[in-house]
Amino acid sequence: MRSHAYRSLISPLRPQVTPLRLASTLSSRPLSSSAKHPRSKAVPKTIRAVSTIPFIGAFFSSNRNTDSSATMSYPDQRSDDQWRAVLNPEQFRILREKGTERAGTGEYDAHHPSKGVYNCAGCDAPLYTADHKFKSGCGWPAYFDSIPGAVTRHVDNTFGMKRTEIVCSNCGGHLGHVFEGEGYPTPTDERHCVNSVSLRFTEDAPKEPKSKA
Ligand SMILES: [Zn+2]
Repeated sequence: MRSHAYRSLISPLRPQVTPLRLASTLSSRPLSSSAKHPRSKAVPKTIRAVSTIPFIGAFFSSNRNTDSSATMSYPDQRSDDQWRAVLNPEQFRILREKGTERAGTGEYDAHHPSKGVYNCAGCDAPLYTADHKFKSGCGWPAYFDSIPGAVTRHVDNTFGMKRTEIVCSNCGGHLGHVFEGEGYPTPTDERHCVNSVSLRFTEDAPKEPKSKA
């Protein structure tokens, strides 16, 4: 009985579950509210075995992952108040509160310079070069790689779906997410799906954090 009840509760959510590599438009969303219920595959088996506990556990593990990334220490340790003083409200929402800009609205979505650098809009650390950028059609700036060490990943396996958040390695500012294996003809087959709001482009050469000179 309980199992049936849960099935009927869960099944309306199933159409939202789309394998990442099959639906570039869906999967390319930097995982906002639409990705919060994609637990369909595991649900029937799990429910039969242990009732509701794993389901609740999934929410706790989600919180734990979020917390762990938030408490990681970064060289730039400004407080929220200090960030509010230098960021506009939209930058604060996205960089410091892990928000997402609407698809297709970002300043750098269709921005394809031949050279230049995309710096962190919070702390100005160089993150991506123009050479890393490619046209993904997803509605957000897409990069197949970053400047070495500039971007830190936080993997979250909640709901049985791997999501990898990317943040600025210098200030921890939220950039977006990385998706792998989508079949883009790039050297890495990775797509760093980044909010334009998190970036500030400059034509200047990168500050070369990797430089050995
Ligand atoms: Zn930063």
